[in-house]
Amino acid sequence: MTSIAVIGAGVTGLTTAYELIDRGFDVTVFDRNRYAAMETSFANGGQLSASNAEVWTQWGTVLKGLRWMLQTDAPLLVNPAPTFHKMRWMMEFLSNIPNYERNTVETVRLAIAARAVLFEMAEREGIDFDLERRGILHFYDRAKDLTHARKVNALLAEGGLVRRELAPDEIRDVEPALHGEFVGGFLTESDSSGDIHKFTMGLARACARRGADLRFGVDVDAVGHSNGRVHISASGRDDRFDGVVVCAGIGSRHFAKQLGDRVNVYPVKGYSITVALNDPQSQAAAPWVSLLDDRAKIVASRLGADRFRIAGTAEFNGANRDIRADRIRPLTEWCEKHFPGISTETVTPWAGLRPMMPSMLPHVGRGRAPGVFYNTGHGHLGWTLSAATARIVAADVAATAKPQTTLTPGASLAAA
Ligand SMILES: Cc1cc2nc3c(=O)[nH]c(=O)nc-3n(C[C@H](O)[C@H](O)[C@H](O)COP(=O)(O)OP(=O)(O)OC[C@H]3O[C@@H](n4cnc5c(N)ncnc54)[C@H](O)[C@@H]3O)c2cc1C
Repeated sequence: MTSIAVIGAGVTGLTTAYELIDRGFDVTVFDRNRYAAMETSFANGGQLSASNAEVWTQWGTVLKGLRWMLQTDAPLLVNPAPTFHKMRWMMEFLSNIPNYERNTVETVRLAIAARAVLFEMAEREGIDFDLERRGILHFYDRAKDLTHARKVNALLAEGGLVRRELAPDEIRDVEPALHGEFVGGFLTESDSSGDIHKFTMGLARACARRGADLRFGVDVDAVGHSNGRVHISASGRDDRFDGVVVCAGIGSRHFAKQLGDRVNVYPVKGYSITVALNDPQSQAAAPWVSLLDDRAKIVASRLGADRFRIAGTAEFNGANRDIRADRIRPLTEWCEKHFPGISTETVTPWAGLRPMMPSMLPHVGRGRAPGVFYNTGHGHLGWTLSAATARIVAADVAATAKPQTTLTPGASLAAA
C-alpha cells in the first residue's frame, strides 16, 4: 500500500486524509497540537458560504484598508511596520486585482461543489456538527452597498449560485430576530452553517476508525525528499513516506520552502466571540438563519440551541494570535445592537490566522518533487472549500500512483 503523510490536522488536513483513505492509501497525519482543529479551524464564523465567495482583490478593499489604517475598531487593520513577507505578499495581492472577476467565479464554483462532498462525509460518518441548512442572509443598511452587492451577485450567478434579493420587510420575515433598519438583502437558501471544530473532530475519529495513524502533539521540524521518497522529521523521530500533502495552514509556506516550492501564504488574523445562550430569553432572541453584515464585515451563525458565534475583522500583523480587547468589542457591540434580547454576560473570545494566498485561491496540487502535494491557503473560506479541494488533491495523488493525468491548481472538481 502506498504511504502518504498529511501535515496538519485542521479542516483541510483531515478532509484530505479522509479522501486519501477512501482511495486506499496508508495515511499518517501529523499535528503539533494534542487534538484536531485547534488552530484556525477552531472557532471560525461557521458559514458554509458560496455566497461569500467574492475575493478581496479589488481597489475598493485597498482604499478602504488605507482609510481604516488609523481606526482601531475598523474591520480591516494593517500594521504599518513593513516586513519583507508582508510587502511582497501585498504586491502580489495588488497584481491579482485584474483577476478579481475570474477568481470570484472560480471560488463560487468550488464552494458549490464542496457542499455535496462535505454533507456526504458527515452523513457517512454520522458526524453531528450543529449543521443548520436555513440559508445565509446578507443584509445592507446603505443603498450604495446594496448596489455593489447586486454587481457581486451577477458574478456569483455566473458561477451557478442561485440567490433571492429581499426587500426590507422580507428580511424581517426571513429572520424575525434581527433588529435594524435595512435597505435590502440577499438570501442564499443553499448555504448553511455549522461548527467547524465539531466537524473536524468527528472526521479525525472517522479517520482513526478507518485505520489512519493520527500523530498528535508532534511538531514537524523538517520535511525533505530523496530517491523518490519523502522524509519527515518530527519530535525526534524520522519517517519515510511515498508522498506528502502539506495542509499546515499558515505553516505551509515554511514547509514548501523546505521542499523547493513557493506557497505564499500570509496569516490574516480574524476574531470571533461565542455568546453562551444560557437562558430561554437569549435563546429566543438569537437568530437561526446565518447572517453576513457586509458593511461591518461580520458573519454570525447559530450553533445549536445554546451558542451564537460572531466573527469578523482582518488584521495584517504577522503570525500574532494575541486577543485584543479593542478588536473584540465591536463584535460584542454588534450582537447587542442587532440582538438586544441576548445576554452578553458570557462571551468567549478567540483569534485565528487565515492562511491566505495573494490570489485568494487555495493552492491545490503538485509540488516540484515527485510525491509532494499541497492543499492549503484557503484564506477566508477554508471551511466552505476544504471538502472539494481535498477530493481534488486526493484524486491527483491517486493519479500519480497510476498512469499520469495532469491536474493543476484551481482544477475543477469534475476532474476529480
Ligand atoms: C475569524 C475567522 C472567521 C472565519 N470564518 C469562516 C467561515 O465562516 N467560513 C469559512 O469557510 N471559513 C472561515 N474562516 C476560514 C477558515 O476557518 C480557514 O480557512 C480554515 O480553518 C483553515 O484550515 P487549515 O486546515 O488550512 O488550517 P488550520 O486549521 O490552522 O490547520 C493547520 C494545522 O497545521 C498544523 N501545523 C502547522 N505547522 C505544524 C508543524 N510544524 N508541525 C505539526 N503541525 C503543524 C497546525 O497545528 C494546525 O492544526 C474563518 C477564519 C477566521 C480566522
